[in-house]
Amino acid sequence: MATCAVIVVAAGRGTRAGGPLPKQYHLLGGETVLRRTLRLFAEHPKIHTIQVVIHPDDEARFAAAAEGLPKVRPPVAGGRERQDSVRAGLEALAGEVPDLVLVHDAARPFFTPALIARAIEAAAAHGAAVPVTGVTDTIKVVDGFGTVASTPVRSTLRAVQTPQAFRYDMLRTAHLEAERSGVGGLTDDAAVMEWSGHKVATFEGEAGNMKLTSADDLARAAREGAAPLTDVRTGTGFDVHAFGPGDHVMLGGLAIPFDKGLDGHSDADVGLHALTDAVLGALCDGDIGAHFPPSDPQWKGATSDQFLVFALDKVRARGGSVAHLDLTLICEAPKIGPHRDAIRTRISEITGVALGRISVKATTTERLGFTGRREGIAAMASATIRLPEEDAL
Ligand code: MG
Repeated sequence: MATCAVIVVAAGRGTRAGGPLPKQYHLLGGETVLRRTLRLFAEHPKIHTIQVVIHPDDEARFAAAAEGLPKVRPPVAGGRERQDSVRAGLEALAGEVPDLVLVHDAARPFFTPALIARAIEAAAAHGAAVPVTGVTDTIKVVDGFGTVASTPVRSTLRAVQTPQAFRYDMLRTAHLEAERSGVGGLTDDAAVMEWSGHKVATFEGEAGNMKLTSADDLARAAREGAAPLTDVRTGTGFDVHAFGPGDHVMLGGLAIPFDKGLDGHSDADVGLHALTDAVLGALCDGDIGAHFPPSDPQWKGATSDQFLVFALDKVRARGGSVAHLDLTLICEAPKIGPHRDAIRTRISEITGVALGRISVKATTTERLGFTGRREGIAAMASATIRLPEEDAL
């Protein structure tokens, strides 16, 4: 799979929104605009790393916005113009050399996971692509006196959004060429690619993916645009796998050395199975066996992280987010305590859910029952998710 980085441009002062606080640090439904934007990218399984470009005065604000979110690299300082800021972000990623890069404005916090998926697909297919929507207003070109100079044919016009999507090496080269040639003032990355002679493809944008520009936008978004996630649900999951021959057990996506293995059709990761069922339970969307039947040979030996990612994708496809995951592993052996933090970290990596929202606990059954007799491992889990209210069926 191609690696994909995101550059989030958050260096603007946003003076048009009024007040001393830049717009990307205004609150929307309990979190800042920037945090919401970062969270949506961090939660997407195909995004590997996130580079934020900030104003040097905003280090503390950035730290609060990014706290606990996975995949977010240390910020870099932006330049005088947007073009300089994106170039700084591209240079910060030069050590990683991602295959693809998305460039996104921090002040667009209302995109969906489906838009990210389309952006990645378009970048892989075309090398350079931008999300567009049709224009409903008639657009006029006016002269310096405010008099109409011409009227472009509306059917040929498109409004351009972000994330704009590129092959990393192509965009970096184009930006460096533009800098060397002293070409500035290009207001988006497509314009940099156009200037350097590349064809830029388009893909379908989203009407809801609006840019917060004015104080009015912020107020309206705070009121309604944020689609408050007030439909809070908790699901539970339970799973058991018996010990069999082997030299390790998979628990929460982590291989733990042991003198036995766990029997099962997949990798028998009892913890991830319980979590997957908990998320599906919160969605009222069947169970792991219904979506991944053991009778289907394609799941033989499968790693269980994909089951949990599948369930989380369903939450995100409905515009929701995961508030909390809680997993209890029940066994006499192996000892879970020494691995507990590593399991939490692994679950955070798999799911994109912040570490502070993931709990892993362990207990024994005081040598009673099948786990007490060391015949296998049981796991129980709960998942609390938040969905938009209008999504309730
Ligand atoms: Mg199972």
